[in-house]
Amino acid sequence: MLLRHTTSEVKERKALTVNPAKTCQPVGAMYAALGVHGCLPHSHGSQGCCSYHRSALTRHYKEPVMAATSSFTEGSSVFGGQANLLQAIDNIFGIYDPDIIAVHSTCLSETIGDDLGQIVKKALDDGKIPEGKFVVQASTPSYVGSHVTGYANMLEAFVKYFSFNTDEKKRQVNMLSGWVEPADMRELKRLAGLMDLKTVLLPDTSDVLDTPMDGTYKMYPKGGTTREEIVSMGDSMRTVAMGEWATEKAAITLDNKCKVPFSMTDVPIGLKATDRFIQALSTAGKVSIPDCISDERGKLVDVITDMHQYLYGKRVALWGDPDTLLPLIEFLVDIDMKPVYVVSGTPGKKFSKRAMEILEAKVPEAKVRNGASADMFLMHQWIKEEPVDLLIGNTYGKYIARDEGIPFVRSGFPIIDRIGHSYFPTVGYMGGIRLLESILGVIMDKIDATSPEESFELTM
Ligand code: SF4
Repeated sequence: MLLRHTTSEVKERKALTVNPAKTCQPVGAMYAALGVHGCLPHSHGSQGCCSYHRSALTRHYKEPVMAATSSFTEGSSVFGGQANLLQAIDNIFGIYDPDIIAVHSTCLSETIGDDLGQIVKKALDDGKIPEGKFVVQASTPSYVGSHVTGYANMLEAFVKYFSFNTDEKKRQVNMLSGWVEPADMRELKRLAGLMDLKTVLLPDTSDVLDTPMDGTYKMYPKGGTTREEIVSMGDSMRTVAMGEWATEKAAITLDNKCKVPFSMTDVPIGLKATDRFIQALSTAGKVSIPDCISDERGKLVDVITDMHQYLYGKRVALWGDPDTLLPLIEFLVDIDMKPVYVVSGTPGKKFSKRAMEILEAKVPEAKVRNGASADMFLMHQWIKEEPVDLLIGNTYGKYIARDEGIPFVRSGFPIIDRIGHSYFPTVGYMGGIRLLESILGVIMDKIDATSPEESFELTM
């Protein structure tokens, strides 16, 4: 395999990324749009872009991901894609009948300078948007940022377009979720429900990308945040935004537009981040924390105690998105594991700073890199320099896992070589237990597979 030729000698690179630890902005915009009920994502660019975005999501969620495209040809690439988008809006409402079309741009349409806002306004003026139907648009040039940036931009577009302040406050709290699995979104709602709190979760891909098979195809499944709910977010008491990279923009826009203050917290992965999330919900909704949630917390603490002897001091390499990596490395540090290498392709200076703040006391030797120069090749070189006991990240780490013989827990996006991951949450206390169970499972599997016969144990 090609990766066997990776050398341990790290040479600083400025203009070359090898195996990036990210994907492109429109993939995130598409995922966020799928979390709105009756919404059809639309890619304003070439068919190739749209096929890639759809297949990235389909391969991960194992569900048919529907999206339309402006289908640029040579002509539109030179003269602009306005005519294509106007025609597309006409066709989509006429044939596929969504409630909302969520248009995102691509590298090509951004480079030629298409103004999505102006084109959508023209569609409205020309009567191409039927009464009661809507077109939302977000700029998602993929030569900056990552899929997380695209997700953040589309999330912001929804609140900017729909949320409205009527001056009549509702007893409800907004939850803006970073990029997590549909099962995680369901878990966030379950936790809020246990606190007897009325919430609006945006986006919400549960019951959209994990729908039951009942023999009938539904182009717009029953899940997703409804337009009415997004409108009502302008009257909520407060917003709890989870994950700075994915949700801060939308939280600020909602605050500026509708005067709904927000609490910024991490995606609730692990003990402390879940504590902070539960506390933020409790404060925002002015509700107490029920015993059943404290019990779940206690169960996680119990599992940590049981596993500690096996996990203590294990060196871990991680890659993925900032919003999920930060609480994850905090969790690993809390249970005395050592996240020694951390890589994220998503830019933002704050990431390395925050990661090092979490790591510096207990893992001062940790190496953290994010942005364009942070790629899987660099991660592999670090591992070649000094090995690790565990890998945590998306499917693209399997080459390193195989070449180096390192136990590997799949986490994040995309996971395209396993099925079922999107049905089990890793957020919240119960999600923390699942995460630990996966981690210990792969570590024990390696011990079982490699231990000499005299130390092969039935009970561990
Ligand atoms: S050209 Fe840009 S928008 Fe299209 S798939 Fe590539 S990175 Fe994504």
